[in-house]
Amino acid sequence: MASLIVHGGAGHFDAARQQPALGGIRRACETGWALLSQGASALDVVERVVTLLEDDPTFDAGTGSYPNTEGFVEMDAILVDGATLNFGAVAAIRHVKNPIQVARRVMCATRHCLLAGDGATRFAHAQGFAPVTDAELLGQPASSPGQGTVGAVALDAQGHIATATSTGGIKNKLPGRVGDSPLIGCGAIAEDGFGGASATGEGEGIMKVMMTRSVLEYLKAGLTAQAAADAALSDLADRVSGHGGLICLDAQGRHGFAYNTTHMARAYVTADGEIHSSL
Ligand code: ASP
Repeated sequence: MASLIVHGGAGHFDAARQQPALGGIRRACETGWALLSQGASALDVVERVVTLLEDDPTFDAGTGSYPNTEGFVEMDAILVDGATLNFGAVAAIRHVKNPIQVARRVMCATRHCLLAGDGATRFAHAQGFAPVTDAELLGQPASSPGQGTVGAVALDAQGHIATATSTGGIKNKLPGRVGDSPLIGCGAIAEDGFGGASATGEGEGIMKVMMTRSVLEYLKAGLTAQAAADAALSDLADRVSGHGGLICLDAQGRHGFAYNTTHMARAYVTADGEIHSSL
């Protein structure tokens, strides 16, 4: 049976941001679920859901991304195909509206998996993605960027799993800093027959424990999706004192999520087809 889980980032959501984050995550999940119910592929659904969240200035991805210490926007994104283990990713990309769509293009139109920096930006523009300014990406007002990395994991009617994650990174990051999000096994993973996961939180910790790779290993060892999420988060907290969260699905579409921050915006479809969203 098809399934979907979406997140809008782990952290502390200021009071004024809580309802917009909940609304945005719920709308994205509703759209993705409608597509999945009509037979769309997991890959198309996670790309669409993350595109919607990138376009929502409530979140720190695409429009609404955090600026770095020099005031400009560099973004990371990844999209993973659980059927083939192929993935496409971009790191420290600039001047594009939807990094997740560029990540898909890297996967489908090149023999590479990850493009970074100026090469990623030039690839996107050469592929026809319209250039956008930092002012457009910073959202309005520019002094108040969005909050929360975004991600989605979907299982489609054919049993394929796909995952997507996109972010503007962390506050006060140095130019050129790349977090966990575009790295396979760190910000995202998917493997048909086992499951998929998307991470959020302090990338420097998530990378050290390769958190989504841990989720998959726990699923392969027979843990439930929820137990796998809890175990991978414990690794982050216990091994490197990290803070963050993750969402996951197992091969049957059962969901799991865990976080050790104040909030993690999330939405998922329950077994009876209802959408549940919370912060
Ligand atoms: N994981 C992201 C990064 O380190 C940030 C986040 O999820 O809030 O770039």
